[in-house]
Amino acid sequence: MTNYQLNDIDQMVTEWLENIDNIIPKLIFDMHTETKLNRFDLVTNVDQQIQNEFQQFLSKHLPDHQLFAEEKSNEGIDPRQGHVWIMDPIDGTANLVKQQEDYCIILGYFVDGEPKLSYIYDYPHGHLYKAIENKGAYDNNQILLAPPIIDIKDAILSFNTQVLNDETMHELYEASFGHRIIGSCGLDSLRVIKGQFGAHINTNPKPWDIAAQFLFAKELGLKMSSLDGKQIDLSTAAPFIISNEGCYKEVLEILNSGSGYGK
Ligand code: NAP
Ligand code: CA
Ligand code: CA
Repeated sequence: MTNYQLNDIDQMVTEWLENIDNIIPKLIFDMHTETKLNRFDLVTNVDQQIQNEFQQFLSKHLPDHQLFAEEKSNEGIDPRQGHVWIMDPIDGTANLVKQQEDYCIILGYFVDGEPKLSYIYDYPHGHLYKAIENKGAYDNNQILLAPPIIDIKDAILSFNTQVLNDETMHELYEASFGHRIIGSCGLDSLRVIKGQFGAHINTNPKPWDIAAQFLFAKELGLKMSSLDGKQIDLSTAAPFIISNEGCYKEVLEILNSGSGYGK
């Protein structure tokens, strides 16, 4: 087994992400889109090729690391065991297809279920966000500070308006400063990480939607949990919130009041 230090692996993956800049423009130029479960569930050659490139990178440089990713079968891989990378090759595919903006690559590296390295690559805006276990979080190598406390009345909250019931949304609007949604779980979460949003909620994420957020939350003192306040199992994911500490409790109280947040 290759016995790399975390720093070495970070350098290799950062270089891989920098090199991907050379292939993305051509992939987008040649973009073709397919639907998966329904007409809103999209995948493109960009998603598939980026994931293939990363799989090849792992096979070549880190052959004992496994890939658990959206556009492949993950049968037989337990992300809680051994060296596992969880990847969403394009998070915000609908934005890529419709706007060519507001999408990102999400990567999380776990050793026996513990998050070690995390990346959210905002390619259209040229920002690579990373978190390194016990070394903090960075935006293009500039250290990110823990965001200031945001009270719920000052907080922008981010959630998909198709999935919460009207009463819950009304209560969230009333209690907060307002609502915004970018349409990429990774980039909406980043707004919380950077202190721009108070919280982001996704009631149905898959492991790759939230793989990077575990370590950013840990390094920057943010709250990340299921919507009943429990720890999230990274192999299954669960209804999820990433939140500033200043509004986390209140948002969860609203979501769980009455008959809950579901339609
Ligand atoms: P979208 O623009 O397609 O996606 C917005 C974000 O949610 C992206 O990060 C996307 O990841 C992720 N996502 C895509 N499908 C999802 C799903 N079924 N459940 C949870 N997250 C999902 O979102 P949209 O156009 O507003 O909605 C498309 C469909 O996804 C709708 O049926 C919507 O209800 C559902 N959705 C549900 C939630 C939720 O909180 N339950 C959140 C977003 C969307 P990729 O780009 O990698 O697919
Ligand atoms: Ca996603
Ligand atoms: Ca995706």
